[in-house]
Amino acid sequence: MNDISLMNLQAGNTTVSAAAIEAFAGQQRGSLLDAGDASYDEVRAIWNSMIDRKPALIVQCAGAADVVRAVRFARDNRLLVAVRGGGHNIAGNAVCDGGLMIDLSPMKSVRVDVAAKRAWVEPGATLADVDSETQSFGLAVPTGINSTTGIAGLTLGGGFGWITRKFGLTIDSLVCADVVTADGNLVRASETENSDLFWALRGGGGNFGIVTAFEFKLHDLGPQVTAGLVVHPFKDAQTVLEQYRQALETAPDELTCWAVMRAAPPLPFLPEEWHGKEVLVLAMCYCGDAASAETATARLRSIGKPIADVVGPCPFAGWQQAFDPLLTPGARNYWKSHDFMELSDTTIGILLDAVRRLPGPECEIFIAHVGGAAGRIATGATAFPQRNAHFIMNVHARWREPAGDEACIGWARRLFEAAKPYSVGTAYINFMPEDEGDRVAAAYGSNYQRLCEIKRRYDPHNLFRMNQNVLPRGEAG
Ligand SMILES: Cc1cc2nc3c(=O)[nH]c(=O)nc-3n(C[C@H](O)[C@H](O)[C@H](O)COP(=O)(O)OP(=O)(O)OC[C@H]3O[C@@H](n4cnc5c(N)ncnc54)[C@H](O)[C@@H]3O)c2cc1C
Repeated sequence: MNDISLMNLQAGNTTVSAAAIEAFAGQQRGSLLDAGDASYDEVRAIWNSMIDRKPALIVQCAGAADVVRAVRFARDNRLLVAVRGGGHNIAGNAVCDGGLMIDLSPMKSVRVDVAAKRAWVEPGATLADVDSETQSFGLAVPTGINSTTGIAGLTLGGGFGWITRKFGLTIDSLVCADVVTADGNLVRASETENSDLFWALRGGGGNFGIVTAFEFKLHDLGPQVTAGLVVHPFKDAQTVLEQYRQALETAPDELTCWAVMRAAPPLPFLPEEWHGKEVLVLAMCYCGDAASAETATARLRSIGKPIADVVGPCPFAGWQQAFDPLLTPGARNYWKSHDFMELSDTTIGILLDAVRRLPGPECEIFIAHVGGAAGRIATGATAFPQRNAHFIMNVHARWREPAGDEACIGWARRLFEAAKPYSVGTAYINFMPEDEGDRVAAAYGSNYQRLCEIKRRYDPHNLFRMNQNVLPRGEAG
């Protein structure tokens, strides 16, 4: 290896000698890659293909000691650092131009203690890795709806999905975390050790250090649940959404139903004449006992005249993968998100208007229904910004060619602006794209100032800045 010029924290360049790089590489159990390595392009690629950044070095960590040495190397040379878990984040902060990318994806182990109902999870594990190990024993951690997502980024932002209303956000099951802080030390964060850091990790993203292990409490679940899709013609969307909203008012915590609006993909159970036509999909999961599933889902399933209803018993781990084929890596993606307290008639009207102008066959709007157990925890109890919102909207523009950038991004931004007056003002930081750096303070709402204080203590020089960045100085971004 030769001397290498790397991007530093002042956005200038620092030259690191070949000897220093070789000494660093020699200590690591994992590999150190540069642009000359055959796997370099594959390792720097992330889920959102709009992000095409080229780190000067990539360190693939095999364990916590590798992460400690990587952080010390970055700190000593004042290098720009990016941290990659599952590589799914829309903003693309898992990879940086010119700096050091700390790649945790080789660290994938998941160890389950069945008797104690606990799981120790390394930060390169995906949701599928976690489900595969926990569901083998009829246990689960509440996570998200796309199984290739990384557990690390999802957890640090909060994490919600099909069983959140029953068991809380992913962070509500977090018992403790091992963290490498900006000073290069490995510490433990829990309710009793470094409790301020533990508070910040539960929603504060990658701002406070690199988590090398998560310990989760596990919940009894399944392995069978009742789940599936009810597909409605878009012409009925207004009435269906009004009744959906009503049905959710009395839904038990075991029942979660999200509304998705898009052009129908060629799903095998949909008559061919519907493929490519706009539809409203009610995607639901009931995680209570099978005997009560029919009654619990009846109200939602009796709405309107659906084109198809494929709700039934299925393995939870399989349902967690149901949306994977529509969310594969390699496409261009841009997201905009709002938190809503309610789905007002006006908001519904704005959403439907945007569906009439969908800029492409893969673009969609989804409304996630949260609340339940996640909403019964005080907003100030963890860094996660908003416990009171009942709905989280994500406008998901997705397309294939750069020529579509303007139309697709423009569509998402216009809908975001139109819906803004009806939103709460906070936002789920895991849904924020790279151009929303100035929204971070507002996104965290009343929790932002405490996050800034903790950032000052644990990362005063903002080594961990490739994220939805909480500024140590405390001013809005
Ligand atoms: C298709 C798709 C579906 C999704 N569905 C859901 C959903 O249902 N529910 C939900 O809650 N979210 C969902 N998300 C959002 C998801 O939670 C975020 O994208 C999350 O950041 C992904 O984590 P990752 O580890 O894969 O990402 P990465 O891009 O690898 O990491 C994201 C950021 O997290 C930080 N980070 C990662 N690992 C560590 C670590 N070990 N220590 C410290 N910081 C770290 C870094 O700042 C990094 O930039 C979805 C995302 C996608 C793309």
